[in-house]
Amino acid sequence: MDFDLAAMARRAGVSRSMDFRIIVPTKALQDDLARIYMKVLRAWATVARDRILPAYSQALERRAARDGMVRDDAGPLGDLFRELGPEFERLLLTLTPELRDWTVLVERWHREKWIAAVYTATGVDLTTMLGPLEVQQAMADILAWNVSLISDVSAQAQSKIAAEVFAGYQRRAPAREVAKGIQAVLQTSRRRSLNIASDQLNKLSSELDAERQRQAGLDEWKWRHSGKLHPRLWHKERDGNIYTDKTAPKDLPGQLPFCGCKRQAILML
Ligand SMILES: [Zn+2]
Repeated sequence: MDFDLAAMARRAGVSRSMDFRIIVPTKALQDDLARIYMKVLRAWATVARDRILPAYSQALERRAARDGMVRDDAGPLGDLFRELGPEFERLLLTLTPELRDWTVLVERWHREKWIAAVYTATGVDLTTMLGPLEVQQAMADILAWNVSLISDVSAQAQSKIAAEVFAGYQRRAPAREVAKGIQAVLQTSRRRSLNIASDQLNKLSSELDAERQRQAGLDEWKWRHSGKLHPRLWHKERDGNIYTDKTAPKDLPGQLPFCGCKRQAILML
């Protein structure tokens, strides 16, 4: 349902233009998303410890016992990685509902913040007018994106772990050396997941900002720079500029990777 917030504010006695409070994503919501990604990495750590490394040690032993003979001692290792593919696909399927729950959580949090910001500024209470339905496309888009990202994180971990294992086998590295390599792979995946969680929360929050402002009939909005340490200079220069969706630059606030800029709602009377 779309409505005219400016008219409602006027009726509530508001007589001057104003800025609404910016909605800043919380670390807790970011951690909630990161936790789901970590489930995949923990599963890889467990599989590495309980199955991959024991299989690796056995392959080394077989090779040492039969050195000089024609053989395929690494064959079982290849089989193991082939088995793991479908196992992890099943795990990823179980995580989709958790990712969906996270988008629901973020939407509810954002809606409450938006209602509070409007109420504080204008005295207009939007509680009964807003629900998740109006922004379900934004939620569905971010869900689809995360389903794809989490499966990519898992696939990348798998191929890098396999590379550690087979390269280790080729140079006859002891199992503990390969274990260290796998640990490093999982550390990199962990950092990537944390970055994804922060970026995806930012993107969903920005999209919700835009949808809620459009819904309220607020055509104009103010570019707010995040104050981050390493900003895009051309974003910083836009700080305080007022745009409409027609006049706005192509790279909207929060769309480029790690852009913390915000689209601030303003009431123009
Ligand atoms: Zn920016």
